[in-house]
Amino acid sequence: MMQVYLNSTSSMGYELSLAETLFKLGARPPIVRSLCHIGPKTAIRLYKAIHQRSPKQGMLPYDPYWIVRSSVHDLHASIFLGLIHDLSQQQCQSDLSAERFITAYQLYCKIVANNPRPSKLEAGAPQAILLDINRAWQQTGQFKSGDIRLVGCEKCQARHVVLNKIPKPFQQCPICDVWADKTGRRRWTTVKLKPKQKP
Ligand SMILES: [Zn+2]
Repeated sequence: MMQVYLNSTSSMGYELSLAETLFKLGARPPIVRSLCHIGPKTAIRLYKAIHQRSPKQGMLPYDPYWIVRSSVHDLHASIFLGLIHDLSQQQCQSDLSAERFITAYQLYCKIVANNPRPSKLEAGAPQAILLDINRAWQQTGQFKSGDIRLVGCEKCQARHVVLNKIPKPFQQCPICDVWADKTGRRRWTTVKLKPKQKP
């Protein structure tokens, strides 16, 4: 029965196929519903048909400081939000469409999976995907509200994201303002300045 809906050329069929793509990329029902015009029951039914289980309950991932927790996080968010920015410039639309969100996220996944020299953090994640689609959605909201901003580094010219609400010295470039510790973990330059650092 679901198959009949998905093959339909009606707009409901189109919404369902977008929802299906989002679910397959790992999106949770509340996020899919915010991007597609489908009801709560339909969302749950579709989720169960795709994953053969009920969706996870509880809060969606929300960490407004995720991008500053690691320079590698910042790099990943910079790739994804850079794509969101470029696609919205291209289409002259500021509101987020499901299509644009899907395109940006799929491109982000392709880019990070093809990194020939993954960092330790990336090597530990399937296909090196550190930015979960649900978090990507949350960050898109932070980006739209101006909480996260894209800036160009004066040293390397790379475009990267920064958090507006943290002090300037902590708005660092994920390429230039990092150093690797003994274990190979990349750390922000500011981390070194902390007097008490855990081994
Ligand atoms: Zn730089």
